[in-house]
Amino acid sequence: MKLFRIAVDGPSGSGKSTVAKILAKEYGLDYVDTGAMYRAMGLKIIRKDIPCEEGPELSELLSETVIDFSDGKVFLDGEDVSDLIRTQEVSKMASDCSAFATVRTKLDTIQKEIGRTKNVVMDGRDICTVVMPDAEHQFYITATAEERANRRYKELIAKGQEAEYETILKEINERDYNDTHREVNPLRKAETAIEIDTTELTIDEVVARVKEEIRKKEGLVSDY
Ligand code: C5P
Repeated sequence: MKLFRIAVDGPSGSGKSTVAKILAKEYGLDYVDTGAMYRAMGLKIIRKDIPCEEGPELSELLSETVIDFSDGKVFLDGEDVSDLIRTQEVSKMASDCSAFATVRTKLDTIQKEIGRTKNVVMDGRDICTVVMPDAEHQFYITATAEERANRRYKELIAKGQEAEYETILKEINERDYNDTHREVNPLRKAETAIEIDTTELTIDEVVARVKEEIRKKEGLVSDY
């Protein structure tokens, strides 16, 4: 059976998750948020209060941790932690721990298994390069750091949370640096991925561009 998998890579806050979720809905595919898995791992490290560094404590923690993603929710050792992982503290720990080979190997293995046989939309920072390099459709969604900070700022304000643009921009720049400079599988655009700069585009326009590329590749004339 021919598979239909969409891999969406790109830097933090580029809107890739929003786009990926819409695509999953429109094409009737499962959506896999790999960032949520790194966040769940980060939450576990915070809860267990172990040092965030490679070593026996992290290895032991990894060996006893079960992370799963299904029905749009992430489960940490069977507990639905989908809401608990959306804090700044967890974001930071997820970014820090995602640099470690042991953490990446564990989560890559789970994600590769999910993407091996199923029609899915999967997003994250190494999905086209490492997890699903053979995905039928691959996109690298990006935007300037300033625009990504601006979007995040508006999102937090809309939720009634406190936010400071300069702090958010600094965090985005730091996360970009971590993601692109980590030794193991740094964030980069796969040669096979189509890059879409969303700085000047609305979400609807991005989705339309992606669908247009998919239509072209699938050789379809009307909507898939
Ligand atoms: O996408 P999200 O912000 O939820 O991801 C949380 C963190 O997990 C990111 O800062 C990134 O460092 C890491 N991550 C990763 N590889 C992925 C997905 C996320 O390194 N495939």
